[in-house]
Amino acid sequence: MKYDVIVIGCGFAGSVIAERFASQSNKKVLILEKRSHIGGNMYDFIDDNGVRYHEYGPHIFHTNSKDVVDYLSNFTEWYPYEHRVLGLIQGKKVPIPFNLTSIEQCFEHDKAEKLKQVLVEAYGMDTKVPILRLKENPNEEVKELADFIYENVFKYYTMKQWGLTPEEIDPGVTARVPVLVGRDDRYFQDKYQCMPKNGYTAIFENMLKHENIEVRLNVDAHEHLRVDIQENKVYFDNEEFTGTVIFTGAVDDLLNYEFGDLSYRSLEFDKQTHDGTYQEVATVNYPTPAEMNGYTRITEYKLMMETYPLEKTTIAVEYPYAYNRKADKGNIPYYPIFTSEDKEKYEMYCDKIKGITNLHVVGRLADYKYYNMDQIVARALMVYKNIK
Ligand code: UDP
Repeated sequence: MKYDVIVIGCGFAGSVIAERFASQSNKKVLILEKRSHIGGNMYDFIDDNGVRYHEYGPHIFHTNSKDVVDYLSNFTEWYPYEHRVLGLIQGKKVPIPFNLTSIEQCFEHDKAEKLKQVLVEAYGMDTKVPILRLKENPNEEVKELADFIYENVFKYYTMKQWGLTPEEIDPGVTARVPVLVGRDDRYFQDKYQCMPKNGYTAIFENMLKHENIEVRLNVDAHEHLRVDIQENKVYFDNEEFTGTVIFTGAVDDLLNYEFGDLSYRSLEFDKQTHDGTYQEVATVNYPTPAEMNGYTRITEYKLMMETYPLEKTTIAVEYPYAYNRKADKGNIPYYPIFTSEDKEKYEMYCDKIKGITNLHVVGRLADYKYYNMDQIVARALMVYKNIK
């Protein structure tokens, strides 16, 4: 087959663009995927306990974009699912995002009443306040509450997750889980919250089964694809490729790390089987110091399923790692760390390839952005529209 489009990587970025080119533009698409499966980090499967397990950590679909839901609904049915998280604070499991109920559970009655009152007066009911902003409030009582939340929800979780304090990382990261001045105890407040009926992998199978798409698994793209910076050309199997190339991997890897490695955080999951049900909600966060719990959170996957009349349960205990592509553990890049040094490095890589007009970098790794699933799908749809 002669290909019009070559896609590197088979997560949402690569699969959406491949699907669009194949089905809407009648283009022949080749996808090269390094792993032994499709779906990128969304890959899931039913394990020996009958639990739909997410190999690369919990993926919960939530979005405000009707377009994204409509698009993905071509490939799956859904069941409603609203994610709830508890966090272990001073021995009690309280709602996260930290909200008015959490205040009641952490403070004695009169104190809690006072704190709720000052918080509602300061920000109004049903508002969201990022912790770093709450900490700037000059009111003594608000400040006291902010310090409590900072210390017990954000400080240690963030240090474990990122190896850095909340002040040292991009403020947008902790703002993903703001303090909630209200009673909504869902982890997300988006309009659409649901899970694919047959899992994420099935979405990818349905996207990629088009006759115009060929997927090759277990293939290192470096063995087939070469970018020539002097000529501004892409070579596929030693021949110039003038079609469209979509690269969804890490750009430092694409350019053989010539400006050094980009920093990422990685994860390792300790997968365990237990009898019955393990915990109260699908995810329990442990914003405790690393000496108490080295992990950040425990996810019990069957509690995210539509029904789970199962005797056993599977949990994943999540341990953050500094990413090191050569190490035995922590060798998968999950989260870009955008320090100014990394941002500069990333721009240097992008500058280097910008002259190659048929090469497009898209996705959480390639864009070096902390995208949620819906944001990647929206971005991939946009990239397709712009190229076609
Ligand atoms: N965070 C925290 N304590 C929590 C939950 C989140 O400090 O209990 C901070 C932490 O820095 C984390 C960020 O908020 O990396 C974003 O959390 P989110 O749950 O969105 O992370 P993800 O699910 O993407 O790993």
